[in-house]
Amino acid sequence: MNTEPTCLFCKIVAGQIPADLVHTDEHVVVFKDINPKAPIHLLVVPREHIENLFTIENQHDQLMAHLMKLLPILAKKMGLDGFRTIINTGKSGGQEVFHLHVHLLGGWNTSPQLF
Ligand code: 5GP
Ligand code: ZN
Repeated sequence: MNTEPTCLFCKIVAGQIPADLVHTDEHVVVFKDINPKAPIHLLVVPREHIENLFTIENQHDQLMAHLMKLLPILAKKMGLDGFRTIINTGKSGGQEVFHLHVHLLGGWNTSPQLF
């Protein structure tokens, strides 16, 4: 049986595609976005393949709590005193990679234009 992942972020999690890793633990892998939209642009990616927020289930409670609590820790590690997070969900929500991930953006000199 072929168990090779076909998903891009699963391949990064498995170490089959290189990425600029910033943090790893039992739940998540964090790496720099290949096409950064801010001076600091990280992607926080669960090790488990979850398509997006539409497919989150109760079994993911611990993972989701961990992921949220990790964000300020990562921001501080990157020297940020403020940051923005984005989770694109579904094609019409701007999602391009269908493996759940949180964008962590920061490092602007001035406040970014908000919505
Ligand atoms: P989405 O639009 O799905 O929320 O965001 C996907 C993000 O993944 C984009 O910001 C894109 O630049 C990033 N990305 C796509 N392919 C790669 C890759 O191979 N390596 C890394 N590090 N980031 C990637
Ligand atoms: Zn995946």
